[in-house]
Amino acid sequence: MKKQHISSIKQLLSTPKKIVIVAHKNPDGDAIGSSLGLYHYLVKGNHNVNVIMPNDYPSFLKWIPGNDAVLIHDAQTATCDSLINESDIIFTLDFNAFHRTGNMESALTESNALKIMIDHHQAPDNYAAYTFSDVSMSSTCEMVYHFINMLDDLDKINSAIATSLYVGIMTDTGSFRFSSTTSTTHRVVADLIEKGANNSEIHNHVFDTNSYERLQLLGCALTNLKVLPEHRTAYITLSQQELHNFNYKKGDTEGVVNYGLSLDGVVLAAIFIEDRQEGIIKISLRSKGNFSVNEMSRAHFEGGGHTNAAGGKSYLSLEKTIEKFISILPSYNKALNDE
Ligand code: 5GP
Ligand code: MN
Repeated sequence: MKKQHISSIKQLLSTPKKIVIVAHKNPDGDAIGSSLGLYHYLVKGNHNVNVIMPNDYPSFLKWIPGNDAVLIHDAQTATCDSLINESDIIFTLDFNAFHRTGNMESALTESNALKIMIDHHQAPDNYAAYTFSDVSMSSTCEMVYHFINMLDDLDKINSAIATSLYVGIMTDTGSFRFSSTTSTTHRVVADLIEKGANNSEIHNHVFDTNSYERLQLLGCALTNLKVLPEHRTAYITLSQQELHNFNYKKGDTEGVVNYGLSLDGVVLAAIFIEDRQEGIIKISLRSKGNFSVNEMSRAHFEGGGHTNAAGGKSYLSLEKTIEKFISILPSYNKALNDE
């Protein structure tokens, strides 16, 4: 981000403003962590701040300091829309296009508020007055840390900010193992720990609060895992009936796709999850090396994301979606076998 932009933002934030922070639909650790981290920071600057998420999110993210302040657009649409409409500034975090906010898209498009984007997804739209976009970043949480640093305010990071930002860096880097994890990421994390993030407690809140049913659902997913060695691909399916059998709760399938990728020799992993309510098959894609699941998702599944992690959807049945997936693999064979 240009120096000149930073000083304009500094100027803008030097007097109290009505601010709304929004993130993408089906918010994950990075969406919630970056939003709450920025929330705590802006509240310290005497702004009137509201955090709005398009829809509900998993309980393993509901312990983060400030969680009670989060508004859910699906549940309180009129209130959220008027906050968006009346705000001076809207920070849009962890997404690159308004349609990623689901039902909030029209309110955001119509709002006259000044928009500031902080995001690490590919191909950002240009709706924002200030676009802080960097696809090389591990997470939006890391970017919020750098944003606060650019505003010369690292000394304002308290334990609530540090804890919130730690969550998203941890979840988006797969606990600091993905290639997006740099030495700078570790320096940021070290500073967050010094400023009050309790790494072990945070890990426990996010990863060690499984229900028995969730582990049984994981067992079902692993039973359904199929490997296509000729395409160096593994995929998992979960039907609505299977989700029902294991008393599925939001977030229960988080991370399951990574089991496919953990197989030796597998370069591409996918999970297909039936969602009858939305009338879609929700797809998550993961890859190793240079194989771009962002490209695959954009080309075939109306989605996108990052090179090694992307999402998308299909309006076909679960069976037809799998047929389609298998049918496109030969066109990627060279790329898959080059890895
Ligand atoms: P996940 O598979 O965990 O839902 O998402 C992986 C990555 O892809 C995340 O960075 C997420 O923001 C992005 N993503 C997930 N679903 C979609 C989608 O439908 N469209 C786009 N453009 N990105 C998605
Ligand atoms: Mn993210």
